[in-house]
Amino acid sequence: EATALSRIGLAGLAVMGQNLALNIADKGFPISVYNRTASKVDETVARAAAEGNLPLSGHYNPRDFVLSIARPRSVVILVKAGVAVDHTIAALCEHLQPGDAIIDGGNEWYQNTERRQREAEAKGLLYLGMGVSGGEEGARRGPSLMPGGSRQAYLNVEDLLSKVAAQVDDGPCVTFVGPGGAGNFVKMVHNGIEYGDMQLISEAYDVLKTVGGLSNSELAATFADWNRGELESFLVEITADIFRVRDEGGEGELVDRILDKTGMKGTGKWTVQQAAELSVAAPTIAASLDARYLSGLKHEREEAARILAQASVSGEGPPPAAGRIDKRRLVDDVRQALYASKICSYAQGMNLLRAKSEEKAWGLELGELSRIWKGGCIIRARFLDRIKAAYNRNRGLANLVVDPEFAREMVHRQAAWRRVMGLAIAAGVSTPGMCASLAYFDTYRRARLPANLVQAQRDLFGAHTYERIDRPGDFHTEWTKLA
Ligand code: NAP
Repeated sequence: EATALSRIGLAGLAVMGQNLALNIADKGFPISVYNRTASKVDETVARAAAEGNLPLSGHYNPRDFVLSIARPRSVVILVKAGVAVDHTIAALCEHLQPGDAIIDGGNEWYQNTERRQREAEAKGLLYLGMGVSGGEEGARRGPSLMPGGSRQAYLNVEDLLSKVAAQVDDGPCVTFVGPGGAGNFVKMVHNGIEYGDMQLISEAYDVLKTVGGLSNSELAATFADWNRGELESFLVEITADIFRVRDEGGEGELVDRILDKTGMKGTGKWTVQQAAELSVAAPTIAASLDARYLSGLKHEREEAARILAQASVSGEGPPPAAGRIDKRRLVDDVRQALYASKICSYAQGMNLLRAKSEEKAWGLELGELSRIWKGGCIIRARFLDRIKAAYNRNRGLANLVVDPEFAREMVHRQAAWRRVMGLAIAAGVSTPGMCASLAYFDTYRRARLPANLVQAQRDLFGAHTYERIDRPGDFHTEWTKLA
């Protein structure tokens, strides 16, 4: 007697795959799972049984796996991005049939997805590159999903994805993002924005701790308080929690025992490369990436700290911090600096998405992307609702900071923001992300910049010509003859 076929299949049962498979089964969709290494299949089957007899069946070779799924088949792949995806597709393709769909849920480079979509289409298969955000917990309880590629492949699983995704007040955190590699690209920029958020939060921490002298328990209380207001977000919430965790077996809090070197997997770098490629300024995200690179130079930084301390005779270094700092005022100023800096960072990410959308004719809806980031993902935050509203008010909004509501907020926070930057710079506490955001804002809001001088220099040494403010045309001057 034939067993009932599964609604969907999932190959790749590491952290993300295992949890997403259990989530799908938990929502009542019978699922087949497969992994190259058999032990992970056993693990997943055992978890499905333990977590409430979920409708999940384990398979130990690609053929049995594929044949256990109802047609037209939808197979999610969640393996390491790159060649592992190609290997997995090759193994599955031997058994898939025209009309079946492959859905890659990894953090894949968007051009790999576009190549694979072409290869799949040549075999009559459908292809979807789907960004998945939310880490382990998101995958299990409800992630934010960013599918792009074949619309038919999306429609085949729309009902399922709508149940599996995180649920917020205005619907499930999933939407068909656009054709080709749009889903992967949107996930990449999401991660770039995540780099920015994390860097800005770490700078707020540094200023409060180093300039303001706040203890870990004061920091926990501060971030918890911020999480009740306009900064309410997953990252601010977990930051408050982190400051409370004691070092087991040691003294004090664990956060102070963690080596100050940040790891990375590549999506932040891709975001910065794409921004440069498309001539979109993304200085906050770039500063966050640079901060990770510099953090990696732990040994060099220790040497530099020693050499520069020795080289400075008394009074030459940054003045000792604290002194007579009004802690309550500082906390409130830093909150405003963080919020304003964050808006600039999101403005950069959104403008990168728009530039790519125009280049590729993807038709990305920035308001809709803000909506699906409201839940499930790492950058989920209360203020994404406001970003959504800003793009709904004006689809062609040039920059978030000139939306009437955000413009008011930016202007209102300027003084506090500048006070924090001034204090940090005077104390020698580096705040590259916040400074980059402020410089971005100050550059963008100025009707006239010193770019006239750069044009004059370019024309002097390279005859690159310049335009004038008082009449049209391209001009060249023999500068050295006139000087
Ligand atoms: P991962 O560590 O990136 O990859 C491990 C999985 O890849 C295992 O199932 C492994 O199979 C498989 N694999 C590796 N090389 C293979 C090959 N040559 N052929 C077949 N299978 C191969 O797993 P992950 O952390 O769960 O992430 C999966 C994807 O989701 C990645 O693209 C990741 O960037 C993305 N992602 C991760 C997170 C997160 O929080 N971890 C969040 C969002 C997105 P074996 O068991 O046989 O070795």
